[in-house]
Amino acid sequence: TEWTPEQDWHDPRVVPYGPLSLDPATAVLHYAQEIFEGLKAYAHADDSVWLFRPEANAARMQRSAARLALPQLPIEWFTGSVKALIEADRAWVPTGEERSLYLRPFMFASEVFLGVRPSQHVTYSVIASPAGAYFAEGVKPVDIWLSSEYSRAGAGGTGAAKCGGNYAASLLPQQEAASHGCAQVAFLDSVEHRWVEELGGMNLYFVHSDGSIVTPELSGSILEGITRDSILTIAQDLGHDVIERKVSIDDWRDGVADGTITEVFACGTAAVVTPVGKLKWDGGEVVSAEGEPGKVTADIRGALVDIQYGRAEDRHGWMTRAV
Ligand code: PMP
Repeated sequence: TEWTPEQDWHDPRVVPYGPLSLDPATAVLHYAQEIFEGLKAYAHADDSVWLFRPEANAARMQRSAARLALPQLPIEWFTGSVKALIEADRAWVPTGEERSLYLRPFMFASEVFLGVRPSQHVTYSVIASPAGAYFAEGVKPVDIWLSSEYSRAGAGGTGAAKCGGNYAASLLPQQEAASHGCAQVAFLDSVEHRWVEELGGMNLYFVHSDGSIVTPELSGSILEGITRDSILTIAQDLGHDVIERKVSIDDWRDGVADGTITEVFACGTAAVVTPVGKLKWDGGEVVSAEGEPGKVTADIRGALVDIQYGRAEDRHGWMTRAV
């Protein structure tokens, strides 16, 4: 669908997948005025298809749009757009263990001009793609590289928005992590370089020996993960005290080393919940899991996945039926 100030959102349509043709002066190519979302549709045993918290993704896209000077897409348009793709062909939603249809809504500045100002022509689109288990080897601990030089986003910047530019900034540190044998990079805050923010594509949780679970409080430059938010609730359902507070890198390192932190896990739409194995940095490492995930991590993962696949009661009204 397209947006202009005169026509608002108009002309929604489902089209066969194919390339976009863009003028070289299309605004998004120069100033990265672009935002996106990621969510999944799950086939249940009775063949119905359900979306997990689509209105939370829609609301986050609205906040991202506000920060990027893009127009507001109504929540019903967002949910309707992903439903339309599933209605077009139900067979696109794969069935089976840990399989789902990944949906990627995105919005970009499509006006052709070279001046620096918000685009007066905007395009919103959704890609759908079948997804299998995120880690082919099963749910095994992933190793994390601590970025000593870079932050993902700064206070007052676009950090909490899900915009392409934030990911552009994270590509080099992510590449450094890979060169150290790590699947993800960990970012600290940009001012003191002390407070744990998140991973390249996931939020973080720390399980303490007293059963409490701590996640870094939202800082304005942490992405407000929908999985993160869901786990705040699920962990309480499972009887844990859940605390949002600042977590320093020393809290992480020392806590794992002295055993006050018993498990560390990361969470996001793609991998749901994944245990953290090693935290590595220039000159050292601490190990929080080897081999199998810890019990708390596995229980939280299981509780969330059971809701998503319709094997447990949807107590919090998170699932929306698509077809
Ligand atoms: N942080 C970052 C930087 C991400 O890209 C993602 C993935 N969207 C997350 C956290 C997790 O967010 P969600 O649970 O909404 O997928």
